[in-house]
Amino acid sequence: MAAPMLNERDVEFMLYEFLNVTSLSERERYQDHDKHTFNEVVNTAKTIAEKYFLPIRQKLDTHQPTFDGVKVDLIPELKPAVDAVTDSGLNSATADYEFNGMQLPPAVSMIAGAYLNIAGGNSTGYAMLTGANCNLLQAHGSQELIDTWVKPMREGRFAGTMAMTEPGSGSGLGDLTTSATVDDEGNYRISGSKIFISGGDHDLNENIVHLVLARLKGAPKGVKGISLFVVPKFLLNEDGSLGEDNEVALSGLFHKMGGRAHTSTALSFGEKNGSIGYLVGEENCGLKYMFHMMNEARIMVGSSGAILALAGYNYSLDYAKERPQGRLPSSKDPHSAMVNIIEHADVRRMLLAQKAYAEGAMALVLHGCQLSDDVNTAPTQEARENAHLLLDFLTPIIKTWPSEYGPKANDLAIQVLGGHGYINEHPVELFYRDNRLNPIHEGTTGIQSLDLLTRKVPQNKLQGFKATLDEIHKTIAAAQKHEQLHTYCTELSQALETLQNTTAVLMKAMGKSAQAQDESIDLVLSNSVKYLELFGHIVIAWMWLKQGVISAQALSETVHETDEQFYKGKLQALKYFYRFELPQIDVWSKLLVEQDSTAYDMKIEWF
Ligand SMILES: Cc1cc2nc3c(=O)[nH]c(=O)nc-3n(C[C@H](O)[C@H](O)[C@H](O)COP(=O)(O)OP(=O)(O)OC[C@H]3O[C@@H](n4cnc5c(N)ncnc54)[C@H](O)[C@@H]3O)c2cc1C
Repeated sequence: MAAPMLNERDVEFMLYEFLNVTSLSERERYQDHDKHTFNEVVNTAKTIAEKYFLPIRQKLDTHQPTFDGVKVDLIPELKPAVDAVTDSGLNSATADYEFNGMQLPPAVSMIAGAYLNIAGGNSTGYAMLTGANCNLLQAHGSQELIDTWVKPMREGRFAGTMAMTEPGSGSGLGDLTTSATVDDEGNYRISGSKIFISGGDHDLNENIVHLVLARLKGAPKGVKGISLFVVPKFLLNEDGSLGEDNEVALSGLFHKMGGRAHTSTALSFGEKNGSIGYLVGEENCGLKYMFHMMNEARIMVGSSGAILALAGYNYSLDYAKERPQGRLPSSKDPHSAMVNIIEHADVRRMLLAQKAYAEGAMALVLHGCQLSDDVNTAPTQEARENAHLLLDFLTPIIKTWPSEYGPKANDLAIQVLGGHGYINEHPVELFYRDNRLNPIHEGTTGIQSLDLLTRKVPQNKLQGFKATLDEIHKTIAAAQKHEQLHTYCTELSQALETLQNTTAVLMKAMGKSAQAQDESIDLVLSNSVKYLELFGHIVIAWMWLKQGVISAQALSETVHETDEQFYKGKLQALKYFYRFELPQIDVWSKLLVEQDSTAYDMKIEWF
């Protein structure tokens, strides 16, 4: 029997015990939904994943898209698979009914998407980016832009991209050079080169709607002079049918370590007359709008890190239960039967670490989904504003922790399989390769850590920081009701003190540097990634304590034997995280508080 993509008991736990999504049906937006419809959607995704994507997973990996100078060639099996997603409505599951959507909660859509992501790699990225493109236009575009572009994208006729990166401008978008000018007829004309644009060209859809960041002539330098344009591959005729080619040329495809189903393109805009672009919102506010899409994409990146970690965990767990090898140290008799490798304590350590990383990360991204939902649908204005505050603050951590620790989990999955994990007969090495992108795109880990420390923490007198700590304290208070969780309550409270002390030292040092206006800030921020990791570990410890409260409560009542084992497994993973992982924050805190200059002082000539 094939290994399960996800543990269905855990899916049930995450949706109905951890998030309690059935309670969302009380909100007007979700009044047509209940547990039955949520399960149906998840099952539909699973069926499509098994029928269309799993059989071609390996082929998608080994047959990278090619470009013959005219056309992109994808394996023919991909289109029916992508069409099956569109036809089922899963590509716009969270969208409004009027836009062909199903008005599903983001958390349910994410769980459904998890099956597609595991089976189809990042081929689900075509639909994901299109959905995020639509959401941006619906939030910031004119009614005309929405009517023209969002409808066909939601219907699956057009695809959407996000085109920011350039050869000389990746992490530092303020240096981008793609230009926008206004022609004699008042049209915006876009010219320039973009690289790494996912889904930038293919023939899975009739048209591709690029959201392009460009700088208007005379605009201020840096991020304040960037505008956002809709630049379609094909212009549209009056009646909405496809018109002229809009000078969006594919100049090349990148071949990648993983994520191969999703084309990575170099695009050249407007080499002759300039591609026609349609301004989104106001001039010079483009990056602000793009952040709408980037913030959503950052949660999706975090979710991909967590989902692929879960996939590797489930696969290696299944393998470990069936692979006989060696004997326990206590067994000296060579005639005795070999044990399955799960009997070896070290293999269980690797599985437990994966469980702690993967299920902790998944809890965090689902928590993020719920916050993004609450921003729009929570019953009171106050609750919506609080959700906005928390989501905005947590986004760098939701993006980064799962994307850093997801590949670490996959690395352990490979190790559990030994040599069999290193060959492509088993998908664990593929999960690792696919996952390795996540700490890079949508803002690298380094960039996220600077965002957290220089913007998210200090903004509005630490309002988001304090609100997050308040939420963690609420969970500690709930956990105090269960004696078996008391040690974790104490350890998490101590960790919060460490975080507060570390943050106070850093804020003071940043304030001093700001006053001095000298280079000292470079040293203060030089270990920012360790701050993000420290905060991330505390947030994951929080997610584990939340799961611990549910499990302890369930175990205090009468439960079925399989459920009892399930909850005990949760508590053991919680213990692992608090014993093996959380104590590391003390090392990172020391480096930060002492403003350790080991990396900072390393001279380039010494390498
Ligand atoms: C497969 C793939 C898909 C992608 N999809 C898209 C897409 O659809 N649309 C799009 O617009 N882009 C896309 N990207 C681009 C991606 O977002 C960038 O690669 C990423 O932002 C990093 O930029 P860069 O590659 O130029 O690296 P660089 O910016 O050169 O960074 C290299 C290293 O330097 C570090 N660094 C850079 N600046 C700083 C700093 N100020 N402080 C500290 N450290 C720093 C980084 O953290 C990193 O470790 C994709 C990339 C890949 C590989």
